[in-house]
Amino acid sequence: MIVLGIESTAHTFGVGIVDDSSEDFIVADEREHYIPKHGGIHPREASRFFAEKGPQVVGRTLRTSKFDINSIDGVAVALGPGLGPCLRIGATIARALSIYFKRPLIPVNHAVAHIEIGLKLTELSDPVIVYLSGGNTAIVAYVERKYRVFGETLDIALGNLLDTFAREAGLGPPYVVGGVHVVDRCAEGGKRIVRELPYVVKGQDVAFSGLLTSALRMYKSGANLEDLCLTVREIAYNSVLEVAARCLMHTRKSEIMVVGGVAASPILREKLEQLVKIYNARLGIVPPTYAVDNGVMIAWTGVLEMRSGVTVEPEKAIVNQRWRLDEVDIVWK
Ligand code: MG
Repeated sequence: MIVLGIESTAHTFGVGIVDDSSEDFIVADEREHYIPKHGGIHPREASRFFAEKGPQVVGRTLRTSKFDINSIDGVAVALGPGLGPCLRIGATIARALSIYFKRPLIPVNHAVAHIEIGLKLTELSDPVIVYLSGGNTAIVAYVERKYRVFGETLDIALGNLLDTFAREAGLGPPYVVGGVHVVDRCAEGGKRIVRELPYVVKGQDVAFSGLLTSALRMYKSGANLEDLCLTVREIAYNSVLEVAARCLMHTRKSEIMVVGGVAASPILREKLEQLVKIYNARLGIVPPTYAVDNGVMIAWTGVLEMRSGVTVEPEKAIVNQRWRLDEVDIVWK
């Protein structure tokens, strides 16, 4: 089965083609990244960029694959969660391809796709999933037909915390250099933990906006930036790992998988390696290229769904900015 997948939930317009009959299942993978001139992502500007580049990326993906559009069995698209204007560009292009070339349209949840490509690439079978990106912070595990959320952020995502602190403290952009976040790098010079900053875990959930506000206030009143970075980093990662460890014990699973854009962090990896040693678990980290947003993960999840008969009429393929991953029935497992 050959599926073309389209990703357009945030910064990345990605198109991938996968072929499940081949060992090298990734046939083509093309991406364009919207980079804001200053500040955070502006959804309408990003969507204009996607509208301009999207059709070219689709064309490029088909050209680099050895297939023409008629050999594609289905068109998969991320319908959420994400930024409305961005999602709508991907959905419009996917619906057009589906209708014009008479191919089934497959609705994909972006978060589920991060997990499915992770399982495929790490070869783990049933892990506790630590999902960390610019827009998401969640601890997830598969239980009875669903990826269930065992803990999540009550306010901003971990990636958002790091990026916003970096921006306000003049540490970027870019925020990630050579796979290392600028906050992690700055933290290397830190000598002490700043005790005034809050460590917030409520039940199984984490919260970062109080940490961000306090760290910025202390930065502006002259506290040492390296110490602040060290403290922000330690609190952010440790609170997530505390929740992940409890989930591991509670669900009695024996694997941990990290997905999402923050998965590449070497500090996080170090901490996780210590954690899995304590719990005698296996660790799988998705390779950086596929831990970030991409079209291949949408196409791969499209294959899994289409094998189980999950498709949608184009006129019913509406984007859902707040489509939670625990609303999706995982019928293909
Ligand atoms: Mg993502």
